[in-house]
Amino acid sequence: MHIPFCTAKCGYCDFNSYVGHDHTIPSYTKSLLTDASLWRAAVGGRAVETVFFGGGTPSLTPLPEMQFLMAGLRDAFDILPDAEVSLESNPGSLTTEYLRGLRDIGFNRLSIGVQSFDDEELVSLDRTHSADEARQAYASARDAGFDNVNLDLIYGLPEQPLSKWQSNLEAALDLAPEHLSLYALTVEEGTPLARDVARGRTPAPDPDEQATHYEYTQERLARAGYEHYEISNWARPGRRCRHNLIYWTHREYLGMGAGAHSYLNGARFGMVLLPNRYGELVDESAAAQDGVMRHIASAETPPPELVMADALILGLRLLDGVDVREFARRYGASPDDVYGDILREFEGYGILERTPTHLRLSKRGLLLSNELFLRLLPEAVEV
Ligand code: SF4
Repeated sequence: MHIPFCTAKCGYCDFNSYVGHDHTIPSYTKSLLTDASLWRAAVGGRAVETVFFGGGTPSLTPLPEMQFLMAGLRDAFDILPDAEVSLESNPGSLTTEYLRGLRDIGFNRLSIGVQSFDDEELVSLDRTHSADEARQAYASARDAGFDNVNLDLIYGLPEQPLSKWQSNLEAALDLAPEHLSLYALTVEEGTPLARDVARGRTPAPDPDEQATHYEYTQERLARAGYEHYEISNWARPGRRCRHNLIYWTHREYLGMGAGAHSYLNGARFGMVLLPNRYGELVDESAAAQDGVMRHIASAETPPPELVMADALILGLRLLDGVDVREFARRYGASPDDVYGDILREFEGYGILERTPTHLRLSKRGLLLSNELFLRLLPEAVEV
């Protein structure tokens, strides 16, 4: 479920999110539920293992709307009793009372967008909360009974010395979350950050510094008992994010909401970006009752070579890598059958390595995976 509303736009963000539209959340949640009812047949009674509210800032959604949404989703879909039900949140919008309410309606995993424990860095990122508010939000989550909490942090900010990133990491470890998602700051086209970098107001993040931060992080989190299981994700044993594992293992999912993406029944599709337009088109689709989803903006059924490329690229993001025999069973050809030359080339560079059963990125490959992923896309492959 995509909830595309935020209290302010962060300078580095290119997500589909909108500021100043909070008053439309009640009507938007109604549209989401209408949308859910439209998809019931396409999902075809499949059991739902995970539910994820992403954004935007889903935690801006008031509790009555959350209750309404979860009840409606349970009516529309077969959500398993042990499903992982996650909410992305930002520190400023969390109180213990709100979080208790979320627990009562079935949320069992909370992701908090901390980004930094340094107030100056938070200002430079245009975040609207302080480090103390992030700690308070975390304490409230624990008070409310959340025992599965992720913290999001960003490393490799412009001119961020390693020592500052180390302090951030220690501040996160002091809280002992179950899961950490750690991303290098990237300059996305069209963002205020990209404009500042282009005009020389802000230096661009330094990829060498980011690599140093990343390598330090791997070593420090291993010592702290976290499993590094995906390029940007670490978890306590047994606490990997089940929802994101669905993407990385190339299984199907349904995304609802403005700008949400799906991979369902062999098709990939994305919904219209603007929340108001999404609501209007959902209503039109519901009124027509002809099965045409007018709120889908783009759709394709990827050809087999693209399906295989996606599966391999996503699977290689996992540190376990890709089970070669399982891949051949699912897609009718092994990675070596389709990409043999490229795979051998990247093994030669020390970017890929093999176990008796798996193909995976090497330690060095975790830093250089994009080079490989670009080569695996179909236009680069002769099939
Ligand atoms: S809170 Fe998240 S989604 Fe909203 S603007 Fe900031 S980075 Fe983007």
